[in-house]
Amino acid sequence: MAALIDLHCHSTISDGLLPPEELVAHAAARGVKVLGLTDHDDLGGLAIAREAAKRHGIAFVNGVEISVTWKRRTLHIVGLKVDADNQALKNALAGVRDARDGRAREIAAGLAKVGIADAYEGAKSFAKQSIMTRSHFAQFLVQAGHAKNVKTVFKKYLVKGKPGFVEHQWMSLEEAVTLIKQSGGFAVIAHPGRYDLGFVNMHLLMHEFRGYGGDAIEVVTGSHTPPQYDQFAKIAHRFSLKASQGSDYHGPGLSYMEMGYLPDLPHGCVPVWQDWEEARLLNA
Ligand code: AMP
Ligand code: MN
Ligand code: MN
Ligand code: MN
Repeated sequence: MAALIDLHCHSTISDGLLPPEELVAHAAARGVKVLGLTDHDDLGGLAIAREAAKRHGIAFVNGVEISVTWKRRTLHIVGLKVDADNQALKNALAGVRDARDGRAREIAAGLAKVGIADAYEGAKSFAKQSIMTRSHFAQFLVQAGHAKNVKTVFKKYLVKGKPGFVEHQWMSLEEAVTLIKQSGGFAVIAHPGRYDLGFVNMHLLMHEFRGYGGDAIEVVTGSHTPPQYDQFAKIAHRFSLKASQGSDYHGPGLSYMEMGYLPDLPHGCVPVWQDWEEARLLNA
């Protein structure tokens, strides 16, 4: 039953490989009944995905995954059930997208220093009309033969300390949570197990997030190991946060997890979708 709801995935609007309508078709074919689309810093796929979901007879939840800087680290905050017409949210995300372009030029400059020319143009050919992300640089670098796959290319070129990494100032945690809440949404910390925070900072993050009005954390996600499901279920409980789940599907070859395979939330979790109209059929 858990695999029926997937509240985290990406389309070509950000760094996914499938256009919104194909992503929805893919989810429906995999048995997903409630789908949230959460492109990075962009609401542009929601209307099309919602229409497609209607055609496939599945429920659809607006979403976005906002890039945030907290204590000099990048965190991802997912907003669910946000209002895609909210002006403050739209303006703030437009600002983030503009800044991404400058960041992409800096990434390309870093790669040029180690002899990799024209990486901006190369990444752009993968991004096409969408925002420029490190995933697009990764695809370019693999195609150009600098690594055998996306996973190794990140380690070699695109993470802290490597030539294609630039430290970037994203939105603050408080701003992201506030924007999501003010647009009527639920704020969720995406894949908390991926941030490599120690015990103290992890607890500080949960405490601050809750203080800003945060609702939930992802407990079951394509980027957590099974022991982490239990670890974050306990943390959610301790901080009175609800639990979310999502595959973080990006498309074939770009994902940790296929759609439709999410295990159940651990016992005792309060699902973030508990009172949602969209999830009524799951709660019945
Ligand atoms: P950006 O927001 O431009 O920094 O790009 C971040 C995106 O790169 C994430 O959302 C993932 O899709 C992808 N990504 C980050 N780290 C890795 C990794 N180690 N392996 C594969 N993909 C990654
Ligand atoms: Mn991504
Ligand atoms: Mn993420
Ligand atoms: Mn994601």
